[in-house]
Amino acid sequence: MGVESGLLPAGLPATFLVRKPGRFQPHNLHAYDFMSESTKESAAIVLDCHDHGESDLVVTFYCQGIGRMTGIAKGAKRSQKRFVNKLELFSSLSLRYTEAKRSNNLAFIVEAELLESFLRLRQSMPLYLVATVIRELILAATRDLEGEDGLFPLLHWALQSLESQRPAMTVLVLFQLKFFEQIGYRPNLGSCLRCGQPFAMAQGYGFDSRAGSIVCRPCLGELGQAAVVPLSRGTIKFLDSAQHQPLGRLHRLHLSRAGLHEALSLFYHYGRHLLQREIYSLKSLSDAHWQV
Ligand SMILES: [Zn+2]
Repeated sequence: MGVESGLLPAGLPATFLVRKPGRFQPHNLHAYDFMSESTKESAAIVLDCHDHGESDLVVTFYCQGIGRMTGIAKGAKRSQKRFVNKLELFSSLSLRYTEAKRSNNLAFIVEAELLESFLRLRQSMPLYLVATVIRELILAATRDLEGEDGLFPLLHWALQSLESQRPAMTVLVLFQLKFFEQIGYRPNLGSCLRCGQPFAMAQGYGFDSRAGSIVCRPCLGELGQAAVVPLSRGTIKFLDSAQHQPLGRLHRLHLSRAGLHEALSLFYHYGRHLLQREIYSLKSLSDAHWQV
């Protein structure tokens, strides 16, 4: 299944994509009024783009305060001035649009102003691959006009961090930690899933990707090893610390190369379980581009 399809995987928990009530401001709720013809504005990041007919583009954005939105940019393939060089993957835009019609569920993109092009992401294959994992995860976990308020700043933070040459794999680990929290599946790193004992440096642990929690060594025997990812205490401490830090302070945290391996493996298994599908870009990145 391509990441563009936006189809929900069959095994996704029923609550997975339900927006939490009350997290969108009233002016944003107005964006769901399909009858309105008025032009609206939103900060947006391009997640997907493909041809539509001879001259149009269909573009999927992640929008501030709205979530994911797909729109049509009429004439964009004919180098129209209002779109040229703006609808590239990962571009950060100020978007003017009118809302989706019931007939095709596509917003009409009136105009786009380029805020940040994140040019370095398109010039460096390793950075591009990491950004692609981020894009695939968001597309896999959201549907149009759904999403959490916190995902837009998280996505922007991740692209900005890659662009400013923060260590790419660390950015990817931190993005995933915050991403799973945003979609309602914050990993439990504070205490053992089975016995409830708080995390202790004297104890050994693994991570149960089905339950999203650490499990202490004495309890691991009861669980069986199949679903458990090895996790060192240093990695648990790093992730636990990052869970309690705002985005602006995450760059102070550092993880060893071995710790990055562990954390990427953890999120690979956790994401595959939650989304009930392979995150292809993450698998290929882990397999082939570990030198990032
Ligand atoms: Zn235990």
